[in-house]
Amino acid sequence: MGKVIAIDGPSGAGKSTISRLVAERLGFQFLDTGALYRATGLHLRRKGLKEDSSDEEIANALKGVEIVFIDGKVFLKGEDVSEEIRTTEAGHYASVFSAKKAVRDFLLQTQRDAAINNNIVAEGRDMTTVVFPTAWKKFFLDASEEGRARRRYLQLKEKGMEITMDEALRDVQERDKRDSSRDIAPLKRANDAIYIDTTDLNLEEVLKRVLEAIGN
Ligand code: C5P
Repeated sequence: MGKVIAIDGPSGAGKSTISRLVAERLGFQFLDTGALYRATGLHLRRKGLKEDSSDEEIANALKGVEIVFIDGKVFLKGEDVSEEIRTTEAGHYASVFSAKKAVRDFLLQTQRDAAINNNIVAEGRDMTTVVFPTAWKKFFLDASEEGRARRRYLQLKEKGMEITMDEALRDVQERDKRDSSRDIAPLKRANDAIYIDTTDLNLEEVLKRVLEAIGN
């Protein structure tokens, strides 16, 4: 088992960007677990599953399906869906389906397997609490709701997507409420995670704090 740096936090707190940079700096692999949930949601939507589908129906639809994250890209049954999963709609369905036990069970081993032979930086909502509770280092990145909506807005705009600031705000509010209040693996701050509020920090400052905490 490799070393794991586990990073959790709400959407738009800057987890992906920071995790990718920390991984690069330390020569670790980067694992974006949100991308796995988004690809799973995409598959379930394509199969016609609904928000009220049962765990049994979902588990059946996921049987034999392979979803992997390699070198910053996510593959659904061999198809590169890295772009398609980035829409607000894909984020919505990722959040809806990620509350289902069948989906969390389906992705648990995939995530843990990523650390078997590699040192990794894993980011998501339950890295520090459920997937890697004994991680080498743990962080919780946070930011104000406005700040997170602004980040999300700029990210999607940069990708050429149509979105207003209001829609970005609704997206983070709705997903964070659902992700924090679900019964299984809710987003919460682990007692032993280092808390960083990124609202008034730039990328370099956040990176510096994380690297310092790791001892670099
Ligand atoms: O991080 P990202 O915004 O891409 O995640 C999309 C959705 O996937 C989140 O809103 C959350 O519902 C779900 N997710 C999760 N557990 C994780 C990572 C993501 O439930 N570890």
